[in-house]
Amino acid sequence: MQNIQNYINGKLQPPLSGEWIDNYDPSCGEVYGKIPNSSEEDVEEAVQAAVKAFPGWSTTTVEERSSILLKIADLIEEKLQFLAEAESKDNGKPISLALAVDIPRASSNFLFFGNAITQFASEAHESVGHYAINFTLRKPLGIVGCISPWNLPLYLFTWKIAPALAAGNCVVAKPSEVTPMTAYLLSEICIEAGLPEGVLNIVHGLGNTTGQAIVKHPKIKAISFTGGTTTGEHIARTAAPMFKKLSLELGGKNPNIIFTDCDYEKMLNTTVRSSFANQGQICLCGSRIFVEESLYEKFKTDFVARVKAIKVGHPSQNDSNLGALVSKEHLEKVYSYIEDAPNQNATILCGGKKVTVEGYENGYYLEPTVIEVKTNQCKLNQEEIFGPVVTIMPFKTDEEALSFANEVRYGLSATLWTNNLNRTMHFSNELQVGVVWVNTWLMRDLRTPFGGMKDSGVGREGGQEALRFFTEPKNVCIQYS
Ligand code: NAD
Repeated sequence: MQNIQNYINGKLQPPLSGEWIDNYDPSCGEVYGKIPNSSEEDVEEAVQAAVKAFPGWSTTTVEERSSILLKIADLIEEKLQFLAEAESKDNGKPISLALAVDIPRASSNFLFFGNAITQFASEAHESVGHYAINFTLRKPLGIVGCISPWNLPLYLFTWKIAPALAAGNCVVAKPSEVTPMTAYLLSEICIEAGLPEGVLNIVHGLGNTTGQAIVKHPKIKAISFTGGTTTGEHIARTAAPMFKKLSLELGGKNPNIIFTDCDYEKMLNTTVRSSFANQGQICLCGSRIFVEESLYEKFKTDFVARVKAIKVGHPSQNDSNLGALVSKEHLEKVYSYIEDAPNQNATILCGGKKVTVEGYENGYYLEPTVIEVKTNQCKLNQEEIFGPVVTIMPFKTDEEALSFANEVRYGLSATLWTNNLNRTMHFSNELQVGVVWVNTWLMRDLRTPFGGMKDSGVGREGGQEALRFFTEPKNVCIQYS
């Protein structure tokens, strides 16, 4: 059994209530550890520790803060193999993905914001003719809350924590109760890196208790949340009357628009990845594929052949392209959309069945599934499934593709495959999304703003946007004679 603990005031400790939650290994469906079922009292302790630490942390020099963050980045990198194995076991993702993406990115998050804070500048405005100069002070907010989901556990947890700490805030953070392991291992790393006690506190537990206690705590000034749209609505309802600053990164139902004039092989390879990477459990996966009519039949044949060749297997095996879905509950949710496909007048072209992996018969495995739909209005195209399920559908004109892409409540990202510059610019201007990838997918530069429109969220993370979110701008106007 691998039991994990809360990290409060620089120490690892059990929940005050003595209550624990089971932690499952999705690859075999067995409990392999316990996590704290933290209550309001644990959150209160974490907030008190953060309040105590804030005067010291917020006045450390930028160089000191930066060097601790860079040390954390180095330690994550040193422990790459160990952390990747832990992430893969906790989440069900292939070890190859955790090694190549999740853990390196967690290290990069600390490296990036550890460096970015040394370059962070604020504005000055000279009021010519008034003999006055305005400048902006950017002060840390105080205590901030960071809440993250299970799909990219350490990657997204550190994406919030690193800029919050870099900007001089103290943090109370909660990872998903479904994948808490690497957040716990991060607390050990923070101790090793010499992060002063109370600066970061990690409290484990359920969303509607531990998470809710963080969101409603009056001393927590801002909430940075990544997760589902329904949870985001709930958080907004709680936090808005308290006038907390909110950054909400929510669900997606992203279009992948393919034109005949694309680089076909590159598009096909990338589309397999953008459909099914991490078992399709990435908010940026292109889950609605729209293909220009003249290319549709060829694409359909080639894509289905490629998808049939994907190997679903135990996450620890290097040749597994897809691992297990994160939980039994999530597997059943995703599967229910597949079962419902015939009622949506849709056709399953490949996949659609649960997979039994020898030796791990109770694991949560599902075949990558391609479904041909007749209309963009069907449930399969309108609701976030968040699993290895994509739909395909032809379009006739640019305007039709654009309207399909935008006819959805979400607006996180879109992918466009074309070599036509005018079309690229037209779509980039008109797509109602926060991120547009053209002839690529999930190519991230951490300096760029990241976030969604419509029901995919409020606010932007990344680069200067994150540092701005985690600071309070204060205008100072000095008149001189
Ligand atoms: P979720 O909303 O169920 O949970 C996310 C986190 O919020 C967890 O830590 C959970 O414990 C906590 N939580 C739940 N209820 C809460 C409450 N009432 N108050 C405070 N915290 C609460 O989401 P999930 O199932 O873990 O993750 C999947 C979702 O996340 C998908 O919808 C996906 O699109 C979205 N997501 C979005 C992005 C993005 O950048 N936009 C990135 C990754 C995942």
